Amino acid sequence: MGSGKVTTGSAPFDFQGKHVTVAGLGVSGIPAAKALHARGALVTVVNDGDDARSREQAAGLEALGITVRLGDGATLPEGTELIVTTPGWQPGKPLFQAAADAGVPVWGDVELAWRLRGPDAAPWLAVTGTNGKTTTVRMLAAILEAAGLRTAAVGNIGVSLLDVVLGEQTYDVLAVELSSYQLHWAPSLRAHSAAVLNLAPDHLDWHGSMEAYAADKGRIYEGNQVACVYNVADKATEDLVREADVEEGCRAIGFTLGTPGPSQLGVVDGILVDRAFVENRQKNAQELAEVSDVRPPAPHNIANALAAAALARAFGVPAQAVRDGLRSFRPDAHRIEHVADLDGVAYVDDSKATNTHAAQASLAAYESIVWIAGGLAKGATFDELVAASAKHLRAVVLIGADRALIRDALARHAPEVPVVDLDRTDTGAMLQAVTEAKRLAVAGDTVLLAPACASMDMFTNYNQRGDAFATAVGELRA
Ligand code: ADP
Repeated sequence: MGSGKVTTGSAPFDFQGKHVTVAGLGVSGIPAAKALHARGALVTVVNDGDDARSREQAAGLEALGITVRLGDGATLPEGTELIVTTPGWQPGKPLFQAAADAGVPVWGDVELAWRLRGPDAAPWLAVTGTNGKTTTVRMLAAILEAAGLRTAAVGNIGVSLLDVVLGEQTYDVLAVELSSYQLHWAPSLRAHSAAVLNLAPDHLDWHGSMEAYAADKGRIYEGNQVACVYNVADKATEDLVREADVEEGCRAIGFTLGTPGPSQLGVVDGILVDRAFVENRQKNAQELAEVSDVRPPAPHNIANALAAAALARAFGVPAQAVRDGLRSFRPDAHRIEHVADLDGVAYVDDSKATNTHAAQASLAAYESIVWIAGGLAKGATFDELVAASAKHLRAVVLIGADRALIRDALARHAPEVPVVDLDRTDTGAMLQAVTEAKRLAVAGDTVLLAPACASMDMFTNYNQRGDAFATAVGELRA
């Protein structure tokens, strides 16, 4: 971790008369175009699509005096001095090649929000990672609120940072979720403190390689002022801290499910403890909360709580607020959500486990599981997941387009586990899956929907998949 380098990357930017190209209409493009236009920039929006919806959106912007070019997101408009892009646009796109050749900088929505902050803007406590971001950011916001601070959970969580930064409301501190895409396009972002929760292969088609994905996640630590929070169990996160250039005095703070060393938060005898933000950390530790204050108390979720606590403590929040915040926190739907108990069997919806890393954490949280899995694999392999989880599996029910990949991994690593392979991808398959799972489960088991796959082969999104599971459980109950 290099310290002492004072970064000045976020100097105010004068947009007046600047030719700015906004890449992509849509949730972030339209507000960005409007905000830039309002600051005197000469804005051109470029968009790949040219359908009825984009024409309607274009008409709205053109009425304000913004130029819109539909059906061509590839060509760099003449005279462009800056591109502001929708975070999802892939770095390999020809538009960005052209920008690189012409020396034109590219910002994403987060960079734009960061640059447009007022001088007294609230500091950011930022969270990224392959899994657990939303949960951790919500826990963090709950803790900050319990400390009496004006705060909000924002960013990739579904609340646009641009709206927050330009809005009327004032905050003391923001709990910010950042995706790897957003970080890729946010070169001058400097958080007060930040955490990388974990790193597992995901979105590699977008980033190009695991190294590039990790490097983009690692950007969250650049210029941190007080703490870079890493996962002791995931060395890759610690490596990223080591590589970051941070402000003088910024500390590396680890979180662990084991006993914490100095400058770490961890767990001792069912108590979450802080050995980082205490006087004389060689000898002392501060009790923060009990494991039972964390809902649900699954191991990975305790890790999320520790990361949230570390960021809050870095901001100076008292121990009591950590406990009160965690107690008031309610998990979002479809994240290890307990749906019902039927005949001594628990039914749990973790539809949000859309990749193997998330599903593995989920499967580690229960002793004996009838696992409902499958969907779109997005290029993933399942050997590691199945090998690590085999001992927890009573049986498996497979659904979805890529279920053969999981079936083959089960045959290799858990050949004794019974598998029901449902050869249908219609929405009604979920009722059959849950019926099969009920038949296979015995009292004390958990029927766990943790698909390790995306849902779009059978459902609109993971919410609909989780709802279908809950509805099916309801029907069995009736
Ligand atoms: P994200 O915002 O990163 O997608 P969420 O908090 O929405 O994360 O959780 C998504 C899923 O990831 C959960 O349903 C759970 O299965 C899994 N998960 C949550 N926290 C962790 C963690 N710390 N490590 C591994 N998996 C996790």
